[in-house]
Amino acid sequence: MAAPRPTSAETNYDAIIIGAGISGMYQLYRLRELGMNVRVLEAGTGVGGTWYWNRYPGARFDSESYSYSYSFSDELLQEWDWSEHFAGQPETLRYLNHVADKFDLRKDIQFRSRVASAHYQEATRSWDVTLEDGSRFNSRLLITAVGPLSAPTMPRIEGVDTFKGQSFHTARWPHEPVTFEGKRIAVIGTGATGVQTIQEVAKTAGQLTVFQRTPNWCAPLHNGKISAEEMAEIRAGYPEMFQRCQETFACFLHTPDPRGTFEVSDQEREAFWEKLYASPGFGIWQGNFRDMLTNREANAAISDFVARKIRQRVKDPKVAEKLIPKNHGFGTRRVPLETRYYEVYNQKNVKLVDISETPIERITPNGIKTSDAEYEFDIIIYATGFDAVTGSFDRIDIRGVDGQRLKDRWKYGPETYLGVMVNGFPNMMMLIGPHMALGNIPRSIEYNVEWVTDLVRYARDHDMTRLEATEAGVTDWTDHVKSLGEGLLSNEVNSWMTGVNSNVEGKQVRIVNRYSGSAPAYRARCDEAAAAGYKELALA
Ligand code: NAP
Repeated sequence: MAAPRPTSAETNYDAIIIGAGISGMYQLYRLRELGMNVRVLEAGTGVGGTWYWNRYPGARFDSESYSYSYSFSDELLQEWDWSEHFAGQPETLRYLNHVADKFDLRKDIQFRSRVASAHYQEATRSWDVTLEDGSRFNSRLLITAVGPLSAPTMPRIEGVDTFKGQSFHTARWPHEPVTFEGKRIAVIGTGATGVQTIQEVAKTAGQLTVFQRTPNWCAPLHNGKISAEEMAEIRAGYPEMFQRCQETFACFLHTPDPRGTFEVSDQEREAFWEKLYASPGFGIWQGNFRDMLTNREANAAISDFVARKIRQRVKDPKVAEKLIPKNHGFGTRRVPLETRYYEVYNQKNVKLVDISETPIERITPNGIKTSDAEYEFDIIIYATGFDAVTGSFDRIDIRGVDGQRLKDRWKYGPETYLGVMVNGFPNMMMLIGPHMALGNIPRSIEYNVEWVTDLVRYARDHDMTRLEATEAGVTDWTDHVKSLGEGLLSNEVNSWMTGVNSNVEGKQVRIVNRYSGSAPAYRARCDEAAAAGYKELALA
């Protein structure tokens, strides 16, 4: 049973959490343990966040299912079976619903509740939160659990609203089944989402036309079923596996090889890459030579290796060339993992349109018009991505001390203390906010939530009701995050990871919105801040 809408007498909370995805759910669980009165406000009709919204065909994990589980409850780990090494979205959503049931989370979650504004009130040291439907709440703490990839963006192409067939953004996929059999389908976008969608839709579509502006470097997922025996082994090995995730660079099961690309012989290098290309998951991205993303020659060499693979897999050499990225090197954008993605372009029912050569001029009532042709479709799928990291903050009117808007404060890029707080915005804590270590997200989330919970507990035990980052703390952390990004080839490339989105006004300039150091280093820095009694914060 979900939380009922409150009567006016019930609207004062110790904490309001925005979002009931993986981070919001876990934060609720932890704050409840502190005996707090918490309300989660969730725009959707169910829990799961990313896995609730992204129901597009073929949506699935790119990190190993078991490494993505919550690790905080042994009972939960023992009772849940994953059916595949990289589970599909329906299974992940079932898992998150199971978590909500098991810990009776829904009673504090209010669904269909999209937050429109959150304004800090100095007089009461609390936040006034208003939903789009006008309902109002007041809370001492405001915890954002809005996710880095949750504000979908439609392309700014003329005529989008004129199309007479069905059209969907992948992150707003309908809950009812959509069939593709015999239909003419267009997919715009070839990021991780587009790739998963394309390889699935191609199986049944009458005709699939892919509109590609920039190809991405994709690598094989190598998914497989998990047998009962394997699951028993995985279960027995959970403590070691989670320990390993704690120690790797980005909390994945894979971590960079300590060798430099050119420290090994040509034969060894080629054999290593062949092994990575044939192995499941992110190994080729996260477990490659340590200098792959900092040394241009090293990056060019691995890019050449993957380009050769694409040429081997795609029969038509002209199509293969179009699918090979030319403006960025392997791994400098998030690598989409695929299952027979390149082979899709060998199918008769699939056509690739390179819109960097022949741009889309407009969406018409019947389809899509490019500079050299007009196409008719029954369905248009927009796999056009997100206003990432800061986008979901920008969509809420968040105002701190003296009415300062967070959106204005971050006009030239986010400024944060440890990715968790911002001076001028007291009692606001961000989960998986900007400047955070992302990586294997549930691992980062668990740490992030526990750090915030410890701070909240500390404040409660010391009768403190105003928790704010200092200007110096924010400047130091922001400078540190920026300096970590220097020399990284990925920061020289346009992508959501550098805050660039051609569909959002004002987001054409690259910024540093992610922490690019190692997760262990991030945790050590946060642990140090806590151990020092949060001296870098202004607590009152
Ligand atoms: P994305 O990586 O930002 O890709 C968006 C795609 O749409 C790009 O190919 C982009 O082209 C294209 N596009 C955007 N606007 C366009 C326009 N106006 N005209 C033509 N093309 C346009 O978004 P995404 O694929 O949704 O993935 C975002 C992130 O979500 C991923 O990197 C990943 O971190 C996460 N994700 C994870 C999983 C998983 O774990 N299994 C699955 C899917 C996504 P340009 O490149 O030219 O801009």
